Amino acid sequence: MFNRSDRLRKNSSCIVVGGGITGLITATVLQRRGIKVTVLDKGKGIGGRLATRRVRQGESIEGVFDYGTQYFSVEQLQFQTWVNEWLQQGVVKQWCQGFGQADGKPRYCGVNGTRGIAKYLAQNLDVHTSTRVVKVSYDNQWLVETENQQQYQGDVLVMTPPVPQSLALLDASKIVLPTKVRSSLEQVSYHSCIAVLALLAQPSNIPAPGGIACEDLALVWLADNYQKGISPQGHAITLHATPKFSETHWDSDDAEIAEQLFAAASGYLGSPVIKYQIHRWRYSLPKTFYSQPCLTLSELSLVMAGDAFVAPKIEGAVLSGIAAGESIINQQLVEKNY
Ligand SMILES: Cc1cc2nc3c(=O)[nH]c(=O)nc-3n(C[C@H](O)[C@H](O)[C@H](O)COP(=O)(O)OP(=O)(O)OC[C@H]3O[C@@H](n4cnc5c(N)ncnc54)[C@H](O)[C@@H]3O)c2cc1C
Repeated sequence: MFNRSDRLRKNSSCIVVGGGITGLITATVLQRRGIKVTVLDKGKGIGGRLATRRVRQGESIEGVFDYGTQYFSVEQLQFQTWVNEWLQQGVVKQWCQGFGQADGKPRYCGVNGTRGIAKYLAQNLDVHTSTRVVKVSYDNQWLVETENQQQYQGDVLVMTPPVPQSLALLDASKIVLPTKVRSSLEQVSYHSCIAVLALLAQPSNIPAPGGIACEDLALVWLADNYQKGISPQGHAITLHATPKFSETHWDSDDAEIAEQLFAAASGYLGSPVIKYQIHRWRYSLPKTFYSQPCLTLSELSLVMAGDAFVAPKIEGAVLSGIAAGESIINQQLVEKNY
């Protein structure tokens, strides 16, 4: 066992696995406090479940789809502070004040899609995309190895992938967690969600403001990204299947999934689908949670965070990311470099 001063060294640094909003917030909190931090993400783009994609058809049609997170609202003052900055910087905007019936509470979305929030947070961070972490080892310092044969060294490791993915990485690396902690983490579980990105020939029948929570066996949500204001050159519709439909049809053909979901949504589509894509979210929304806003194992200099540590939404992920950053600072797992 090391004492704190053994661990503290000049130029100490943190490695954050995962460039979703949790990882990016943790990295921002640490960097703003003068700590060197590197973010590694396996995705081609940054953002994880803050996901926006462009789909082209011919010269003139381009659909822009939010196909993960759709919108968010604010409960906690701590989160409001971040949202105020994003509003000021033109990264997010108010979409509406409710779907169906307005309740006066702002629902926000990314001005250029939700991935824009991640891009904004990442712009001043040391972020490496297309960098899948495949092995981690700890010997007074963390050594992180990636699929593309790169190595990173850091004093603290922050893991922000969905918990089952973090546990699989620790297992593959033969890192053993305390039994109680391990069994609590194993209780964390997630819904899955099949998303369909459908480009329509004409405007949809989805009522203003362009989002509708469905009470259907197959569909849980429909959104019109054109009405939302992020897809000016294409009638881009996002369909989210229910957890039940998603589990049952996980291995079905894309064509079969699309046929069933388009049938369920037919009243709202109101126009032929000219192109579609399917995305399967294995870990969509957490359904059971860890009991603390983050997990800090100071003897291992290991921190875990994510929406499953607070609540199944952007706000939960942000609050967990803040908690992770503050925990590293308060427990003095690293020291400032400047
Ligand atoms: C379909 C859907 C709809 C949603 N709707 C809403 C909504 O309307 N409102 C709302 O507030 N929230 C919504 N959410 C939830 C919200 O998106 C999440 O709570 C939040 O984005 C979680 O962020 P995170 O950083 O914790 O996790 P993630 O975004 O999952 O980030 C984890 C990151 O880790 C990376 N990673 C994993 N393994 C490795 C590895 N081995 N090496 C390197 N990188 C790795 C992944 O690529 C990913 O980028 C929705 C989610 C989904 C999927």
